[in-house]
Parts: sequence; C-alpha cells; structure tokens
Amino acid sequence: MANFRTHITVAAAGGALLAYVGFKAQWWPPVQALVVCALTALGGILPDIDADHSRSNRLIFTLLGALALVMGAVLLQPLLSLVMLLLACVGIYIGVRYVGGVLFSRLTVHRGGWHSLLAAAMCSMTAAALSFHWLAQPARLAWSHAVAVLVGVLIHLLLDEMYSVDLAGGRLKRSFGTALKPVYLQRPLASLLMLIATVALVPWLPPWDVLRALLTQVAGLWR
Ligand SMILES: [Zn+2]
Repeated sequence: MANFRTHITVAAAGGALLAYVGFKAQWWPPVQALVVCALTALGGILPDIDADHSRSNRLIFTLLGALALVMGAVLLQPLLSLVMLLLACVGIYIGVRYVGGVLFSRLTVHRGGWHSLLAAAMCSMTAAALSFHWLAQPARLAWSHAVAVLVGVLIHLLLDEMYSVDLAGGRLKRSFGTALKPVYLQRPLASLLMLIATVALVPWLPPWDVLRALLTQVAGLWR
C-alpha cells in the first residue's frame, strides 16, 4: 500500500488541480479553492483511519478531538464556570483523541469497511451535510466540499490498488482488490451499519438539483 506521504501528496496535488479548475470556472472564490484543496487532501488520508498507529489515524483523531473541543466549548460555555469549562474541554479532547481512537482501532480492521466505495459515499455525504447545516454554507459550496472529499478518498483507494500491482515481478500482490471495493462483505454487520448511517444522512443533504447543475457544468467543461 502507499504510505502516508504518498497519499497526502497525491491527494493534495489532485485537490489543487480541482480547486484551480473550479476557481477558473468561477464555481468558488479563492478562499474556497483552498478549502476544496484541503478537503481533497483530508479525503486522501481518510481511509487509513482504520490503520492502527498510522499517521493518518493519529492526524484524523487529533483533528476530530480539536473539532469536538471547539463544539464542546461553544455548547457548554453558557452552562459552566471558566475552570469547569476548561476541565470539560480537556476531557472532551482526551476522550475523542485517545479513548475514541483506541475504541475505533479495536472495532476496525485495516483495509476493511473504510476502504470501500460505501465509506467514500458516507464520508462525502457527511461533508455535504456538515457544510450545509452546521457551517451554513450555500448548497452549491456544500456539494463542492462533498465532491472534494469524494475525489480525495477515491485517489486514496486507487493509489492503494496501484501499489498492489508489482510491476517489476509482473504479478498482483495479495492486497489487490482490497481497497477499491463497493462494500466490505467480510463484516456484514459493520457494513450494514455503515449503509444505515449513509442512508440516514440523505435528509440532511443540500438539494440534489444543485448537485445536478454542478455536475452538468463539470460535464460541459469536459466537452
Ligand atoms: Zn489505504
């Protein structure tokens, strides 16, 4: 499989290209071009969240811990004194970063459900829903954020598969076919839960016709 540096470099390059094309086509302003590039890079390391002790896993849980800390601080600030708020924030960070990270590692296997097209759909739909509802971004930008994450995850899965081809030996490694798969069938219950989570996101998505219009523009650019 490709290592962390390869994944983040290739995904960031893909994100930069996507951001530039969208900026040129006036789909988003310069600041959003940076966001699109960053989200593609994040998508490019996201599947390796299931690789225990990997840099991707540590980085993603650090980001999730920081995000939870900010959310906790905003929500709890009216309810707690300053000292209690500080303690609560430290607790939230440690809980998500370390306890959450360890639990996640226990419950997942590398190249399992998180290396699948279903996970790619779930991650990109989560980005769209969070961007649209939580960050109150316009539908068009929220879908753009989803596309950025999706492109990043797909780059990751493709890279993993490419690294499964031993060009020198002219053969396929045993890992071939374990990254770019529709769903992970060896753990049907986990995949079913992922499918349920994905379907549950549907009501929270921005309007579909905005995505359709965006994709029509992309197709027009292609022609
Ligand atoms: Zn991977």
